[in-house]
Parts: sequence; structure tokens; C-alpha cells
Amino acid sequence: MESSSVENNQAVVCDCCFLKVYDTDILCNNCGYPLKGDQIEQKKFITNRSFKEINHDSYKKSIKTAGTTLYWVAALCVISGVLQYISNTDEESKFYVLIGNLIIAIAFIALGSWSVKKPLIAILFGTAMYIILQALNMIYDPVTLSRNFVVKILVAIVLIRGLISAINIDKVRKELNIKK
Ligand SMILES: [Zn+2]
Repeated sequence: MESSSVENNQAVVCDCCFLKVYDTDILCNNCGYPLKGDQIEQKKFITNRSFKEINHDSYKKSIKTAGTTLYWVAALCVISGVLQYISNTDEESKFYVLIGNLIIAIAFIALGSWSVKKPLIAILFGTAMYIILQALNMIYDPVTLSRNFVVKILVAIVLIRGLISAINIDKVRKELNIKK
């Protein structure tokens, strides 16, 4: 029965996704294009679809940015630890500073890999962690605030950039109804 209906129907391609459809189809089986709709309806569908595709691209890019942000912070923590290790004259404390920075770096790497699933929470968590660490440093040793100032500015810039793209991800997720 199905073969006879296929024989009777002319196979054409969908104007939107260019996959094979039959001229009896009302909607494209693949993309949902209104094959029997009027021109306005069809145009609207294509516009909507390309808008979603652009958003989906920026969505993927933002996830990547959020992830690399956290890896960058990890790298900067390692750099900061090594710099402090070299410049610190106190043999005992410089070792703990280095170890401390490496542990923080590992935490940021873990957040980076987690950010694929929960980018906004991962970035927010990373930012909070960084601010708390800086505050603790300041309480224990106020001199550290000016130490490695360039590295701190870089971390702040990188985190803000990641935060913006993570907010963007959540916005696009809502628009595209992506659940994750
Ligand atoms: Zn289609």
C-alpha cells in the first residue's frame, strides 16, 4: 500500500533543507517547512530557521569561550604561582604559595570541563572562587594586592568576557528551547 502511494507521488526536494519530500506532504518531514503553505508562511519559516542557525552558532561559540576562559584562569594561576615562587625570598612560604596556586589551577581546569554542561554556573563559581581567594590573600598579606597586578587584571578581563558569553548561552538556550 505504501509503495503505491509513493509511486503516485512525485518526489521533489524541500525548498528549505533540500531533502527529498513528496508533493502530497503538507510539512517537510525533515525540517517542518510548510510545503503547502503560502509564500508569506514559507518565507517566515526560512527567516526564522536561519535566525535560529545563527543563534546556534553563537551558542556553540559561547560555550567554547566560557570553557577556554576557565582554562586561561588556570594557566594564569600557574604563571602567578611560578612568578611568586621565583620572587619570594622566604623558602618555606614560597613552596606553599606554589602548591596553593597549582591546586587552584586544577580547580579551574575542573570547572572548565564542567562548563560544557553548566557554563553560567561554572563561570559564576570560578569568579566567586577567584574573588574569595583574592580577598583572603588581602587579609593575610595586604602586600599581595599589588603583586602580580598585571596577572590579576588579565584574569578579571578574561572572567568578565566568559561571564558575558555564559549569559548569552542561557539566553540562546531559552530561545532555541535547548535543554541541558
Ligand atoms: Zn525541509
